[in-house]
Amino acid sequence: MTTTITLPENPYLLLTPGPLSTSHSVKAAMLKDWCTWDDDYNNIVQDVRQQLVRLATPSEGYTSILMQGSGTASVESVIGSVIPETGKLAVLTNGVYGNRIVEIAEYLKIPVVTVDSGELGASDLTALSAKLESDPAITHVAVVHCETTTGMLNPIEAVSKVVKAHNKVFIVDAMSSFAGVEMDMAALDIDYLISSANKCIQGVPGFGFVIAKRSRMEEIKGFARSLSLDLYDQWHCMEANNGKWRFTSPTHVVRAFAQALTELQEEGGVAARAERYRINQRTLVAGMRELGFETLLTDANQSPIITSFYSPDDAKYNFKQFYALLKSKGFVIYPGKVSKADCFRIGNIGEVYPQDMQALVKAIGESMYWTDETVNSEAVA
Ligand SMILES: *Cc1c(COP(=O)(O)O)cnc(C)c1O
Repeated sequence: MTTTITLPENPYLLLTPGPLSTSHSVKAAMLKDWCTWDDDYNNIVQDVRQQLVRLATPSEGYTSILMQGSGTASVESVIGSVIPETGKLAVLTNGVYGNRIVEIAEYLKIPVVTVDSGELGASDLTALSAKLESDPAITHVAVVHCETTTGMLNPIEAVSKVVKAHNKVFIVDAMSSFAGVEMDMAALDIDYLISSANKCIQGVPGFGFVIAKRSRMEEIKGFARSLSLDLYDQWHCMEANNGKWRFTSPTHVVRAFAQALTELQEEGGVAARAERYRINQRTLVAGMRELGFETLLTDANQSPIITSFYSPDDAKYNFKQFYALLKSKGFVIYPGKVSKADCFRIGNIGEVYPQDMQALVKAIGESMYWTDETVNSEAVA
């Protein structure tokens, strides 16, 4: 039985940092069924794995592992699989995602210490140095590159210098920055880097991935604290069986991801994508400042991925109404997650261009001076 279908138009752009707006061709790539153990599919997996390594670094000695689940599952798979029983983790925190790494370690009963810099402070290198000097039991250090909570871009190059001066294993949650910000994993001496399908590579959600030094992967057999999130075993299965996953893999999502990787190359690779994101972000901030909005972070700490804005200082302002009105105009934004400030956030990654940012700023300008009647008539759809 065949039915001809046409892909529906999206009623709004997702200005949320994952899931995000994807291209029609990425979505269309999912309209075919795949067999999880057949070569047709496993060759796609192997190609994806190789391309991920090439995006991370031109250097040799790196490998990649795909892992079912949302991005957090991949973070949990690293934290739970790479630290030996005698190990101890230090986490640089300044937002929700750093705190989540700490929480994962606590769930898994892995000794963990935090080096917190507050939501408005970038990673505290002095405190990290002091902690690593005073606590030689620490074996691993983890940091979030772009802390999506605020949009903070943590200085991973400087963090790496401190971590490596103390000879520790370096784990980076680059979930919302990988392929959207240029970086060379080998130059940064990162041992394990984590990201997922539905962030800057612009795929759909369903799996995450880890890029790791091959020599590290060979050291961690038997460390895992979970069967389904055993990073070593997943890697070993993929290596030994031409890209086979241990358990049912998200086949359609992987096929869409392969299409997203092709589109990344067509755009001009990470350099071109990073430039588009930078222009998106600058266009957004320039327009918002003209409207009188202020950013939570200084420009020096700001990532080109997501920006937090203070909510308008206006008694009439109500986020729910603002959100609904913008949604009716074709834009879905993100509530604030910052604990100490009243903010909302706007992501600028995905199939989103500078002209979309201009249209968004215009829509925000129109939505700032709402009356209850405009909200009721326009936003209740
Ligand atoms: C998106 C994201 C994650 C993973 O979130 P999931 O909801 O599990 O996909 C982890 N860390 C950062 C920094 C993120 O932006």
